[in-house]
Amino acid sequence: MTIARDIPPQVRALYGVNQLRFIADTYQDPVPLVPSLETSVDLSLGALRAVSPVHRQYMQNMGVATSMSVAIYSSTGLWGLLTCHKRDAEVLTPSGRDSVAILVRVAAQRLFLLQAEAEARFRNQVRQNRIVLAREVLEQGPEQILAEYAAEWLRLFRASGVALVYRDHTSRHGCTPVKSQLFDLAAWLAEQWRELNPWSTISLAEAGYPAVDELDCGCCGLLAMPLVIDVTTRGWLFFFRREQVETVDWAGEPKKILERQDDQLRLTPRQSFAVWREEVRGKSLAWLPQELVSARDLGDDLAVLVSSHEVTDLNERLQSEREALARVNDHLHELATTDSLTGAMNRYRIEHLVQVFLANAERYGHSFSLVLFDIDHFKEVNDTYGHDEGDRVLKTLVNSLESCLREGDQLGRWGGEEFLVLVPNTELTGATEFAERLRAQVAATDFGLRDPVTVSLGVTEWRKGDSLKTLLVRADSAMYQAKKCGRNRVITELEKSGMPPKNEN
Ligand code: GH3
Ligand code: MG
Ligand code: MG
Repeated sequence: MTIARDIPPQVRALYGVNQLRFIADTYQDPVPLVPSLETSVDLSLGALRAVSPVHRQYMQNMGVATSMSVAIYSSTGLWGLLTCHKRDAEVLTPSGRDSVAILVRVAAQRLFLLQAEAEARFRNQVRQNRIVLAREVLEQGPEQILAEYAAEWLRLFRASGVALVYRDHTSRHGCTPVKSQLFDLAAWLAEQWRELNPWSTISLAEAGYPAVDELDCGCCGLLAMPLVIDVTTRGWLFFFRREQVETVDWAGEPKKILERQDDQLRLTPRQSFAVWREEVRGKSLAWLPQELVSARDLGDDLAVLVSSHEVTDLNERLQSEREALARVNDHLHELATTDSLTGAMNRYRIEHLVQVFLANAERYGHSFSLVLFDIDHFKEVNDTYGHDEGDRVLKTLVNSLESCLREGDQLGRWGGEEFLVLVPNTELTGATEFAERLRAQVAATDFGLRDPVTVSLGVTEWRKGDSLKTLLVRADSAMYQAKKCGRNRVITELEKSGMPPKNEN
């Protein structure tokens, strides 16, 4: 059996015309045609046609009298030859020759069927892998996918190493060049290969890869599939095959011998047919067309996986940056709205809340009360114990009052040693009771000073048409009354002439 690539082109062409070549007896001298004709006759289809003297000599040197070759055709052209030789001459009948030709055709069909089945099995297995891959897109990153499926892909593609290379990432499994060599290879290929089809070679050296001597992985066969990661970024899926040292036994050394005859160099047929053994090195198994097609499919899926993973990564990074930014914003907001000494709301924030309470009261009738209070004789505290002690008193006071506040009550530092509490959904009586609780709480708190700390409180209730100013004027006036009446007490602002009328709702 001879496969097509070992048959010279001119011989291949002959088999295109006549698929069966029969030489009945190489020792039989050619017999002229009877009658002899002036014009040449095309005997290409004639089974009894004589062959050239060189070919006869070649056969005789081999010790062959009868020879018959049948061409084997696949869907893509000449696939190979089945050749039979016989030492003694034997003339096959035409039906005998036809039988051999039919047998060869049937056997070839069976062979191609087996090949097609193997190919279909391979394609199906790759398809299964692609289905799994599509499911995994959201679950795993490319590195994990490769780690999980490398063994399976190496088996499918009859490869000894697989690597994924993109941007500054490499994932390698099995026998592959080292990381830096993979990047070099990717850069070299990017220069050579501008298409999106897979690139394959059974010998990197023959493909002209300059750094082939530096590869120490024993791989020489490469299948490289370019991956489109994004508009400007290409990645690569590499499959590597090890060197496959092949020993080929030839029927004689297949080199032409030039012989000097009559002062001329002539091509003479081979004399020796002793088995000539050739060792083929530096080459891997050849990549099959279906392997290239499947590598492309797999590569396309991997490219999608890599890009979607990058998008997810980017989103996660953006999300965490967004969260960090939100945290900074929250912190800035807190800084901007909190009194740094006591941790209560600052003037800006509490003033804003008064406006919100006013608007809600005006729009929805959500009534509220306001308590304004001031530490009594605080100057003396500073003067007696020092400013730091004064600061500590302010902090302790706010801490101590937290326990009196209900949900929705808002305490803010109005300025200096003066504080304001917004009391939602509470009328004057309730607010007065609440203020009394505050007063008692302060009076009962141990501030660690020789003298007790007390507060004077003014209470007022929202009235229709109130503004921040009118509300505060009333509360302040009540507080002033509390100071005037001896401090450490609560005064509720009562209606006076010149003040806005009390809300009747
Ligand atoms: P009154 O009972 O009439 O309110 O007397 P008072 O001494 O509390 O009032 P005055 O307005 O005379 O003094 C307020 C003092 O509060 C003066 C000021 O130094 C002090 N003060 C204001 N803010 C702070 C602060 O943040 N820390 C400290 N330690 N003292 C403060
Ligand atoms: Mg004071
Ligand atoms: Mg004051």
